[in-house]
Amino acid sequence: MTRLDTLRGPAAPLDHNARTIAALAVNPGCDRRALLDAAGIDKQRTATHLGYPAPFGQSPFAITRAASFDALVKANGCAHLLRLLRDTLDLSISEASYSDISDVGGSDNHQVRHTRTRALLKRAASDGEGAGTLFDHPLLKLGVAGHQVYLEPAIIAFQIEGRFHVVEIKSFAVIDDQADAGQVAAAARQSAVYVYALRALFASEGLDPDRVSHDVVLVCPKDFANHPTATLLDVRQQLAALDRQLSRLTRIDRILDELPVGITFDIEAQSPDEAAKAVSTVDARFAPECLSSCEMALFCRAEARDSGSTDMLGRTARDELGGVESIPTALGLADDSRLPSPEQTEIAEQLRYVRRIYIEAVA
Ligand code: SF4
Repeated sequence: MTRLDTLRGPAAPLDHNARTIAALAVNPGCDRRALLDAAGIDKQRTATHLGYPAPFGQSPFAITRAASFDALVKANGCAHLLRLLRDTLDLSISEASYSDISDVGGSDNHQVRHTRTRALLKRAASDGEGAGTLFDHPLLKLGVAGHQVYLEPAIIAFQIEGRFHVVEIKSFAVIDDQADAGQVAAAARQSAVYVYALRALFASEGLDPDRVSHDVVLVCPKDFANHPTATLLDVRQQLAALDRQLSRLTRIDRILDELPVGITFDIEAQSPDEAAKAVSTVDARFAPECLSSCEMALFCRAEARDSGSTDMLGRTARDELGGVESIPTALGLADDSRLPSPEQTEIAEQLRYVRRIYIEAVA
């Protein structure tokens, strides 16, 4: 049994999916999330046990809407999608083949589907476009915190001129060529996970990973109708963040070394207070973005608020206040009621300056 298994207790480790892996990149500086995820701990159940259930989840209406839009785009061997790729993105696709890998000969076994995915993509990459254009539900694998997880994507891998693109279908609307920035950002993070996993598959087959493009095709409903529209999304930034976070998860030893001896996060064995104390021994870096991406958000927000942490102010303000950990300290430095340490001299000067301007403006 590894140290991470001991931390989790007897519960089975929670599987990751693209959403959970993508969420890792939202707050790469947080040790708490890195550790809980590396140990496969169910953060949703942990947060509920602590009295702070997660503030998000998809409504049944949203799930139904997403499924019907997905079916529309993929109907008749992805006829809609091909039209979009030709018209909207101006691609010259003459003939297109379509392979659905959601089951293989009636079997939906993950290993079988993954093997089939590898074989089809390898053949398509080696033999060129004629060997495959659209691959629906490719089953991918990714190494997370030292173990391999399957990614069950609702995506399509699409090949044109020897380059492969991930096609992500989302049901949020694009109105007047504008979409909700938060939803686009979440889609970009999730798509980056698929690009990353697809590149890993190519590398393991001795193929050039760069043949998987960082440009993802995002398909959404246009305006208030259900007509699909497509756009290209560059996910290079998200890939870099994901790479950083995944390598942090495999170097979890530093965080483990700092933990008190004998600690566990097993919620079955502890009262909510005991579990809260255990969780609080691992440093968190709360940021407002956590509220839409991490199940522990309400617990961490309450903790940051109680401690007066500058984390509450958001990442930009926190980074600009580098070296000043709490809001009372920042206020004390600004009004000169607190002496700055040598490292705080510069930021104290800036805070006093900002305070002077603020007082003048108010006066
Ligand atoms: S909610 Fe808490 S555990 Fe999750 S990423 Fe934010 S600070 Fe870390």
